[in-house]
Amino acid sequence: MRIDIMTLFPGLVDTVLSESIIGRARKSGALDVRTYNIRDYSEDKHHRVDDTPYGGGMGMLMAAPPIYNCYEAVTGDGEAFSKEDTRVLYMSPRGKAFDQTEAKRLSKYSRLIILCGHYEGVDQRVIDEIVDEEISIGDFVLTGGEIPACIVADAVGRLVPGVLSDDECYEKESFEDGLLEYPQYTRPPVFHGMEVPEVLLSGHHANIEKWRHEQSLEITKKNRPDLAEKLPPEEDQKKKRRRTPKMKSADGES
Ligand code: SAH
Repeated sequence: MRIDIMTLFPGLVDTVLSESIIGRARKSGALDVRTYNIRDYSEDKHHRVDDTPYGGGMGMLMAAPPIYNCYEAVTGDGEAFSKEDTRVLYMSPRGKAFDQTEAKRLSKYSRLIILCGHYEGVDQRVIDEIVDEEISIGDFVLTGGEIPACIVADAVGRLVPGVLSDDECYEKESFEDGLLEYPQYTRPPVFHGMEVPEVLLSGHHANIEKWRHEQSLEITKKNRPDLAEKLPPEEDQKKKRRRTPKMKSADGES
């Protein structure tokens, strides 16, 4: 997957997306993440990218022309991606809420182009012209779209085939099956007097699976009653669980 990020602070985005799993995926070629400095596309002799809003009000707004020029350069670089295979996102607190379902949906595209706003935001006309969807990472306001863009690139990127290794598989994580993850333990068997739950040492896979499911259910009910309410009836959950018995123990035995 290719992810193009248009921003006033490419260094910020590049630093975050150069480490760990996403950094490794960029090196291996599983992910092609490129950043562009919108300021480089300003035609103003002082490289200005912002201006005061029409109608008055506080703060500065990112102007349309440099963003549009940047977008043209990004999409006109000669690499063939069809319109249907590309999604242009604008990170924005008024956008659609981003969650794991959205991450999965976006991971099916071959290319994402992400616009990061700054200051008070972006001239509406460039949003109308180039953006397919506005995406919010939560009900709070940040200083810029760079951290949100990194969040989307990370959450979507790790779902792209070849990015996670088998050991880092995401099939049994929080939000899969609508449940949050159960507690996990690794060596040592006793830490500060606290023991690992006995069932996990039993080697009895069915009991382990049952314990984990119960824990997941309890944690989901306690921390996220909104998610617990959407769960299917208990019987359907059991059927689903029987179909996904994959697990690995601390001894590496599966
Ligand atoms: N005046 C705007 C907020 C601007 S914040 C408003 O009231 O909606 C500056 C930039 O930060 C935005 O253009 C956006 O790109 C980014 N941003 C801030 N909070 C965000 C959030 N919760 N999700 C996604 N992007 C966000």
